[in-house]
Amino acid sequence: MGLIVQKFGGTSVANAERLRNVARIIADTYRKGNRVVAVLSAQGDTTDELIEKAKEINPNASKREMDMLLSTGEQISCSLCAMAIETMGLPVVSLTGWQAGVQTNSSYSSARIKKIQVERIQSELDRSNSIVIVTGFQGINKFGDITTLGRGGSDTSAVALAAALKADLCQIYTDVEGIYTADPRHVKGAKKLDEITFDEMLELASLGAQVLHNRSVEMAKKYRVNLEVLSSFANKPGTKVKEVAKQMEKTQISGVAKDKNVARLALVGVEDRPGIAYKVFSLLGQNDINVDIILQSIGRNDTQDISFTVKRSDVDKAKEILEGHKSSLRFEHIDVNKNMVKVSIVGAGMLDNAGVAATMFGALYDADINIHMISTSEIKISVLLDEADTDSAVQAIHDRFFGE
Ligand code: ASP
Ligand code: MG
Repeated sequence: MGLIVQKFGGTSVANAERLRNVARIIADTYRKGNRVVAVLSAQGDTTDELIEKAKEINPNASKREMDMLLSTGEQISCSLCAMAIETMGLPVVSLTGWQAGVQTNSSYSSARIKKIQVERIQSELDRSNSIVIVTGFQGINKFGDITTLGRGGSDTSAVALAAALKADLCQIYTDVEGIYTADPRHVKGAKKLDEITFDEMLELASLGAQVLHNRSVEMAKKYRVNLEVLSSFANKPGTKVKEVAKQMEKTQISGVAKDKNVARLALVGVEDRPGIAYKVFSLLGQNDINVDIILQSIGRNDTQDISFTVKRSDVDKAKEILEGHKSSLRFEHIDVNKNMVKVSIVGAGMLDNAGVAATMFGALYDADINIHMISTSEIKISVLLDEADTDSAVQAIHDRFFGE
């Protein structure tokens, strides 16, 4: 017995039949003697459809009005789910973000939760013994206006509620069975993980493994919320996300991920003197361009090369900015390559296992794949490769670490 927050994503509540299925999962949890708060996303593609509707009327609608509109998707799924639970004869109430006390800052369309005033939810749970259904993705700002948390924000709503209510568990129900060692749609032999650490999950999410909203994992780590990712379609345990995972002792890494949203810039023939790197990266920083992997070559004839990666969408802007400072930076030319991919392995187990990098590089060598750049952190090793090598690289690395 305990307090459980259960979050259901858009696919899980897409139609009447699936909503009834979700209602059953909630009811089963409640009948086992738990108190249940369920957080729902909008049904299927509702949010996208609402955005389309807005565009027909006004392509430049204010963010305030967009939030007013988009928040309705979650109200529909939540009220319908409550109605499904009513048919089962259980006490239930659905609440919007503001009714549930979700207070945010005023950044419409990307609001941050500041505080959750839990009194209303608490009284529904304690005094009425009700199941409480809360709209994900939304809150209210100090002006009393509706805000939304950014696309995919319902995960964050759920974790924030779990933290505020000091829930025993926060279950994120989705359309996959958990977190995998690699994308199961593309990698043969990808396995579901029983457990993963918050830090590993954050790394994987930043590398494009889009199972959980990044902010929800950060929040779960900060408030030590017990998280579980599982499927609403299969009645099976999912993946537990926690501070320390036992799994680490058996495997050196938790997963292999790829990120195609990268491009490499190389400043060729830069003068080899102090202050150049400082200048280059300050310029990019001032223009909000995030740099990822950086490599500086050894100097020769008083010049050197500095290569680095940025998001593909930033590469043209980065080039333009640097070209604009060619005379003060004094480089020969800029080389741009947009056909690259970053492939990474992530694992807290790397910390106490020497040779993980060698294993990864060995797998790439055996597959005859050339590495352009390498970067490492405590729990991650990334390599920059030609985009054409993506699938074979991920498979080769995955086979090496997880193959029989
Ligand atoms: N309905 C919102 C979206 O589609 C929030 C969510 O699903 O988490 O982005
Ligand atoms: Mg979603």
